[in-house]
Parts: sequence; structure tokens; C-alpha cells
Amino acid sequence: MIKATGNSKPAAVGSSASVQIPFVRLDSADPELMAELMQVVEDVATRSAFTLGPELERFEREFADFCGAPDSVGVGSGTEALVLALRALEIGPGDEVIVPANSFFASAEAVSLVGATPRIVDVEPDTGLITASIVEANIRPNTRCVIPVHLYGATVDMAPIVTLARDAGIAVVEDTCQAHGAELPGGGRAGTAGDIGCYSFYPTKNLGGWGDGGAVVTANPELAEQLRLLRSHGESPSQRNRHQIVGTTARLDALQAAILSVKLRRLEGWNARRRELAAQLTEALAGSSLELPVVPEGGDHVFHLYVVQTDERDRLRADLAERGVASAIHYPVPIHRTEAYESLGMGPGSLPVAEERAGRICSLPLYPSMTSEHVEALAEVVLEVAG
Ligand SMILES: *Cc1c(COP(=O)(O)O)cnc(C)c1O
Repeated sequence: MIKATGNSKPAAVGSSASVQIPFVRLDSADPELMAELMQVVEDVATRSAFTLGPELERFEREFADFCGAPDSVGVGSGTEALVLALRALEIGPGDEVIVPANSFFASAEAVSLVGATPRIVDVEPDTGLITASIVEANIRPNTRCVIPVHLYGATVDMAPIVTLARDAGIAVVEDTCQAHGAELPGGGRAGTAGDIGCYSFYPTKNLGGWGDGGAVVTANPELAEQLRLLRSHGESPSQRNRHQIVGTTARLDALQAAILSVKLRRLEGWNARRRELAAQLTEALAGSSLELPVVPEGGDHVFHLYVVQTDERDRLRADLAERGVASAIHYPVPIHRTEAYESLGMGPGSLPVAEERAGRICSLPLYPSMTSEHVEALAEVVLEVAG
């Protein structure tokens, strides 16, 4: 029996009928990491140093270095990262922001939260990502910004989008919530090509905390200063009770920052492991009926999610579940077809690529603590049910 839980070495691959592979495995499965994390939690708790302070400042420096960015600002979530990025860029009512339809809901939600209107657009069929020509075709007189999403951990080709945006005078906010550490085509890391990169540390992300958390990175010191004000009531970091602007409460907790500092030291290795396992899975599934994920040409993929496509998606998921293999859909309803955005009036067929993908995508289990035996067992089951 293959069990991807616990830390014991898996037994030899037996009958695939007894395979048990969960969708993800978090920190509690790693006792060594857990001990280190409990220690920093105790340390922060003992000092009752819960907001701002040295843990946060340290993590911000470390995370900026990891991203290859001059500065990072810790915030309350990936959604807050996007909202505060748009606020720092003074985007609001009357403005339009271009957002791909096949992202997590929050990519568009953030736009609505600042009072602007998301212009939800289709994606390139081969990659499922936004491109410069898609952006170009959707620029209108009131377009102020584009939010490219490095979906599933695959890098968007940022350079042509940034060039186009500069010429058009619009801002670029990268949604890097699924792509911590991914290398962009032409160099540099995801999140550093545009004006602001937005990260989530939701527990299941490639870098995840113990609850909600997020960060923004930027090379622009004025934006960084504005973001630091916005996340903490517009209060001057150097002068208590001096509220310079109207902000909000959206800080990254010191506890989360301390936890993330420990985990950040392992992230490079975890990403390498994800790439390695994904390559093994892709090799094992080559020749199957499934469409397999591709690493963007010249770019990178850190496999936050390993997403296959098939016309028989629902049957595939049911058959996998029956054999103990978990799966998921990211995301079953494209943003423009959600109830929340009914008012946009974008009916079925309005964004055909995103809509077709939504009916065909299936995320298979892939996480750094998987062994190659797990991947072998997973591939065996997938081949058995998908052919
Ligand atoms: C997770 C995620 C978000 C939102 O992050 P939260 O921390 O959950 O608020 C935004 N965009 C994408 C693409 C995501 O995957």
C-alpha cells in the first residue's frame, strides 16, 4: 500500500487499487520542520511581539532577496497584496484593469474592491496564459493597469507586456500568488518585471504560512513607502499616531513572518523538487490520452499545480477518487461566468478558450514531499483510468 501521508518510506508499489495519494501534504507531516517552526512560534509568543517589528522586517529583507527585488512589504493576504498594489497606483472608480478569466477569483475581486472595473479577457490556447497581443487588443481609453497571472506556477512572457504597457501608459501588477521563485523568460524572477508583484502565503501555496499572509515586491521606493502606509492605517512607520493617509489593517503578522522565514530557506529546494517530480510525471504520462502541462518556452514552471486536460475530466476524477487518488479543479468557473460578475453580462461563449479549459482541466497531486515512488504509483493509476 502506498501512502503519501506520514514519513515512513512507502512500501513497494503493489496493486494500484490500494494507492492513497492526498492532494497536498502540509508542514505537520515533517517533524523536523515542525520542531523548528514551533520554536519560532514560541519565541514570538513569549515576547508578545505580534505586529510589525523585527520578524517582519527580517522576512521582508529575505523575501526581497529571494525574489531579486530591492524591497518587499508584508501584507495580510494575496488579495490584500493586489488591493493595496492597486490603491498605491491610485487606481479606482472609472478605471479599467485587464485580468485573465482563468485565474483565482481574487485577481478580479481586488479590482472591484478598489472601485475599478475588471476587463476580463481570454487567454492564449496553448499556454492558458495572457499575452501582449491579448493585452493590446483590450486596451481602452480608461485602461489603467493589467494584472498578468503566472497561473499554476508557469511564467507569463512579461517583457513584451511591460514594453506595451509603458508605451500605453498603463501599470503592470503581477499576480505571482502561484509562482514564488519562477524564473522569467530573459531573466529575473516572476513579480519583478512589472511595477508591483503580489504574493500569497496561503498555506497550500509554494511558500505557505499557518493562516493567511501575503507580500508585495517593488523596485519603486515611493510605491514601497505608500504600501507600508496603506497596510497599517497610513501611520508613519517612524512616528506613532501620525496618520498620513487613509489605509487599512493589512499587515503580515509577526508569527507568520517568523514561520515564513524558516520555510523560505527551504523554498529553493522545494521548487526544484516540484520541477523534478513534474518532469517525472510528464515523462510517465507521455503517450496517454491526457494533454499535459508545458513549461513556457524560455520561461519556467514551479508547478504550484500540475494540471492536465481531457474531455473526460469528470470521469477521470471519479475513477481516480475510487482508486484513492485525490484531484481538484482550478478553477471550475471562469471569473466572467461567476455569479458575482453576472452584471458584466458576459454570456456563455464570450471567452471561449477560458471556458473550454474550465471544462477540461484537472489538477493532479504534486507536492515536494512526494517520493518518485509516489509519482510512479500516481502515473500507474492515471494511465490505468485515462489510457
Ligand atoms: C491564492 C491566490 C490569490 C489570493 O491569495 P489569498 O492569500 O488567498 O488572498 C490571488 N491570485 C491567485 C492566482 C491565487 O492563486
